[in-house]
Amino acid sequence: MIDIHSHFFPRISQAEARAVDAERAPWLAVDADGKSGQIMLGDKPFRPVHDELWDSDARVRGLDAAGIALQIVCATPVMFGYAWEAPRAADWATRMNEKAAAYCAPHPTRLRWLSQVALQDVPLATAEAARAMKAGAVGVQIGNHMEKKDLDHPDMVDFLIFCADKAIPVFVHPWDMMTDGRMKQWMMPWLVAMPAETQLGMLSLILSGALERIPKSLKICFAHGGGSFAYTLGRVDNAWKHRDIVRQDCPELPSSYARRLYTDSAVFDPGALKLLTEVMGVDRVMLGTDAPFPLGEQQPGSLVRACDFLGAEGQRRILDGNARAFFGLAA
Ligand SMILES: [Zn+2]
Repeated sequence: MIDIHSHFFPRISQAEARAVDAERAPWLAVDADGKSGQIMLGDKPFRPVHDELWDSDARVRGLDAAGIALQIVCATPVMFGYAWEAPRAADWATRMNEKAAAYCAPHPTRLRWLSQVALQDVPLATAEAARAMKAGAVGVQIGNHMEKKDLDHPDMVDFLIFCADKAIPVFVHPWDMMTDGRMKQWMMPWLVAMPAETQLGMLSLILSGALERIPKSLKICFAHGGGSFAYTLGRVDNAWKHRDIVRQDCPELPSSYARRLYTDSAVFDPGALKLLTEVMGVDRVMLGTDAPFPLGEQQPGSLVRACDFLGAEGQRRILDGNARAFFGLAA
């Protein structure tokens, strides 16, 4: 199995974070046992974590137990640094990418990494995405938005055109969820707003007509099965047919663009995976566990293997073959 969606968080010291942004740069506080800790923002705990996130030996032991041959890791989104001015964010991104390379280096056949970039500045972002590929990255991870810029913004489209031209695979992760203070409890931002953020990213590309300008060669994959995209695509098509303001920038039926996009398989429900594979195509869904976080798939591959409607060949594609083709990995 190949897992295309997992996160790392390196040992960033408090001093290293404070030098960048005392309140918003994340750092890692590790407990005395070395196995548990907290991601910190300033003096405040952000999220309890454990050693697979920063210790790749521990990660690979987990991969062995789960039967995962290769896992692709990327930054935990709190590391993006999109709120800072571009040069500072670009320097941070380079350092985080060096830490990603170092995390994977002891296990080159088991762990590969996606870069992060300072999306604030397209020339800086494209330069780092290209540098990282030479340094061993297999693609680039971006957030589904950069402050107020969604994926249809000309800067984002320019970045994606660059990635298409240079054959750099792109993984889009939702983050910085839309809330106005009403979603405070029960992880509502992760359960309601996060799937909507992903859908917003996908629809921004489709309804803006950006996919008419971006080369068809672009390989772009969205996390969490595309969030609420597949389930509400019929609503979008209906709106496109009956409202010219939905149609004005998007020349083709919105659902016809789904086959330009990929998603991971992290939907946790056989019926949802059936719909997703029908909307995206069985060749455009890839195993993604969101490890090592609790909202990820705890028995990697179990959902796909439980879906008999995929057939053996469909299951093999989602668990392995599609990721090899998407990231250009040797069979
Ligand atoms: Zn994730």
